[in-house]
Amino acid sequence: METGVKGRFAPSPSGRAHLGNILCCLLAWLSARQSGGRVVLRIEDLDTARCPRRYADQMEADLLRLGLSWDEGPGGGPDGPYYQSLRTDLYQAALEKLAGMGLVYPCFCTRAELHAASAPHREDGQTVYAGTCRALTAEQAAERAKGRPPALRLRVPPEEWAFTDGHMGRYGENLERDCGDFLLRRSDGLFAYQLAVVVDDAAMGITQVVRGADLLSSTPRQLYLYRLLGLTPPEFFHFPLLLSPEGRRLSKRDAAAGLDGIRLPAAEVLGRLAYLAGFNPSGAGRTPESLLADFSWDKVPREDIRIPVGLFEGG
Ligand code: GLU
Repeated sequence: METGVKGRFAPSPSGRAHLGNILCCLLAWLSARQSGGRVVLRIEDLDTARCPRRYADQMEADLLRLGLSWDEGPGGGPDGPYYQSLRTDLYQAALEKLAGMGLVYPCFCTRAELHAASAPHREDGQTVYAGTCRALTAEQAAERAKGRPPALRLRVPPEEWAFTDGHMGRYGENLERDCGDFLLRRSDGLFAYQLAVVVDDAAMGITQVVRGADLLSSTPRQLYLYRLLGLTPPEFFHFPLLLSPEGRRLSKRDAAAGLDGIRLPAAEVLGRLAYLAGFNPSGAGRTPESLLADFSWDKVPREDIRIPVGLFEGG
């Protein structure tokens, strides 16, 4: 029976998928399907130079080979287009709405200036914007815009924004102290992830967001955007990150964790990922459908997961 639940995969295909991407899709798929929900595939290719279409096509092929299917996506659906690069009109409209509320200002800081002026770095490696351009007058901004095009930032209040994550529990941040005024559009004209993801999840009717814990700290900012734009936020489930055997975060450049380097059959890959995620104790090969009976968020660890040496070798 179909319920109102709608989950999504939202990969940024800047290279071949790695195990972390696949785990994300598996958990999103299981979480949505287990509650009778639909799944959307949205390609987060805002940065088209880094995410060429061939990587997106490869991502689709990899997911299908693993048996991770979707109901709406680049091939069709009621809320398309499903490539962020084709949705910029929607982001522009949201930006104008925020600007109309007097909350958007131009920022002329260079990368080096940002680095030098920013408040202490956060645990996740991001920096808190020091507010350098917050108080520029319209005249000062117009003068500086002759030199270089500005980025656009959202002015945030000194308020605590907290929520209860479906897996990680309560999490909150003070927007001004812990995040600072954040980017809505970069100086090269590309819209920022935070704005695009909120606009898209709302426009596509997403009710359930499953993603890596590296994005937990983005959620208070996104909830603030939902409120400003008058949109209803989804439920969030953040899961722990997969680490390489040496304890590093996986990246698309990590050959051993990329599908390019893994020779195992699809079911073996999923079975071993489900083992790491706590709901396939034997580690045997599994299809996504067969995992529906075993998956539950309670079994998934909350700490980062280190991939044991050799687990994905063979085949
Ligand atoms: N596109 C993001 C990524 O691949 C995920 C964004 C999200 O799930 O909110 O890391």
